[in-house]
Amino acid sequence: MNDMSRPNMSPTVQAIGHAINGRNAAGSSGRAQDVFNPATGAITGRVALASASEVDAAVAAAQAAFPAWADTPPIRRARVMFKFLELLNQNKDKLAHLITAEHGKVFTDAQGEVSRGIDIVEFACGIPQLLKGDFTDQVSTGIDNWTLRQPLGVVAGITPFNFPVMVPMWMFPVAIAAGNCFILKPSPTDPSASLLMAELLKQAGLPDGVFNVVQGDKEAVDALLVHPDVKAVSFVGSTPIANYIYETGAHHGKRVQALGGAKNHMVVMPDADLEQAVDALIGAGYGSAGERCMAISVAVLVGDVADKLIPLLEARARTLIIKDGVNLDAEMGPIVTAAAHQRITGYIDQGVKEGAKLLVDGRGFTGKDAGAGCESGFWMGGTLFDHVTPEMKIYKEEIFGPVLGCVRVKDLKEAVDLINAHEFGNGVSCFTRDGHVAREFSRRIQVGMVGINVPIPVPMAWHGFGGWKKSLFGDMHAYGEEGVRFYTKQKSIMQRWPESIGKGAEFVMPVSK
Ligand code: NAD
Repeated sequence: MNDMSRPNMSPTVQAIGHAINGRNAAGSSGRAQDVFNPATGAITGRVALASASEVDAAVAAAQAAFPAWADTPPIRRARVMFKFLELLNQNKDKLAHLITAEHGKVFTDAQGEVSRGIDIVEFACGIPQLLKGDFTDQVSTGIDNWTLRQPLGVVAGITPFNFPVMVPMWMFPVAIAAGNCFILKPSPTDPSASLLMAELLKQAGLPDGVFNVVQGDKEAVDALLVHPDVKAVSFVGSTPIANYIYETGAHHGKRVQALGGAKNHMVVMPDADLEQAVDALIGAGYGSAGERCMAISVAVLVGDVADKLIPLLEARARTLIIKDGVNLDAEMGPIVTAAAHQRITGYIDQGVKEGAKLLVDGRGFTGKDAGAGCESGFWMGGTLFDHVTPEMKIYKEEIFGPVLGCVRVKDLKEAVDLINAHEFGNGVSCFTRDGHVAREFSRRIQVGMVGINVPIPVPMAWHGFGGWKKSLFGDMHAYGEEGVRFYTKQKSIMQRWPESIGKGAEFVMPVSK
């Protein structure tokens, strides 16, 4: 069938290909996938899905570029990053528009995403300082010992749909600045921003082959996971795939960091400022339509908080401004795909069946409610449940949509025990005015990223990002100093000169003399 004859095909459907060795390349596998504008439901692009041989070509280009790039002094690599930073700042809105057009998140939120990515590029500009090694003079008479960190080679990043700019930037600026060559395999749901990032890196003077984009699905991922020249894999996505990436990558001898899914709780203590807590829950629960790995999906209401807070929350959830994200006053945009819409709807149905009390039902909100042109988009309103309990599926599983559930507990201990028993441990927040409660909460909670009166505690560029439990497979967090460690290997060098070498062979284990 001629593509253009399909009913929701936009008249300007873009062919979205790869960026390999400094050039854009059309897909040659014969496989491709539709890309939608989720606000209108129109097909706006067809993204190529790479075959294993296209992945091989990208890895070969990266491998060829590696020796010269690894030998480039870190300060000169940093200068490329500085230029990239300048170009990113000039193209911030262009990137944000691409995000809104394919992901659906509101434009102002997309600008925030790009800014948080830019933070990491700023961090990577400091690579000479970050790569500075340790030196010990005179570890034995006439012998010095020092360590240095060297790049790994070709490394790959496999990223999710929900942050098509920020999450790749958790990875490649640090990897490249450290002297590696990078293959990005973005989500096929919103692939366009990756090509603009490749173009900006080229304009910044990055040598061809150092950064490559291979569009694709499982076939491309599997080719990366088994490729002998790929030395490390960074992954961000859902937990089952993170687990698979970790096991398969490790089996093939690679370093792997695989960040998975989440179920983030926000505890509201009886002494918290209720209005602040409501604002935080609304923003963190429904912002980006709940499609953030740090979204709050469970409100844990302590003591008598529930009866006071829930009416305020309900009123606010009913009046969310939901429309095409290109409108600057929009608070929430559409759901990313029709499949995600169906999955989230299924969870709401399930919650009702399980006996949670449905206070606000987002299922009734349609494209017509979102405004002209949105009739065929993937729309849903914010949903609020009360009386959610730990046995329910809507509590246990990640919904990844605009669905907030309230759980009532009697005290802080019950709140902490509840959260610690959950299989995910990405982010968590506690709203309180009590310093002791804040301190106890931060110390006892089994979660990787904690906010005190901060609903979305995404760590800054130099602190590193990572959850605990099923939210991260591997040892090292993304970006920050752990990111630098992940993308480099330590070498220890011991050195002496002939003047300090004694006569004769030594047969005992060398000790400090
Ligand atoms: P996903 O797991 O479906 O996809 C992530 C990546 O893996 C994509 O590039 C995709 O093409 C690839 N992939 C999908 N199925 C695969 C398979 N069977 N084999 C190999 N590769 C496969 O995730 P998504 O839907 O794009 O993103 C949403 C998920 O990401 C949520 O679970 C969210 O919590 C998680 N996430 C986590 C973090 C974090 O920092 N922990 C950040 C953002 C998103």
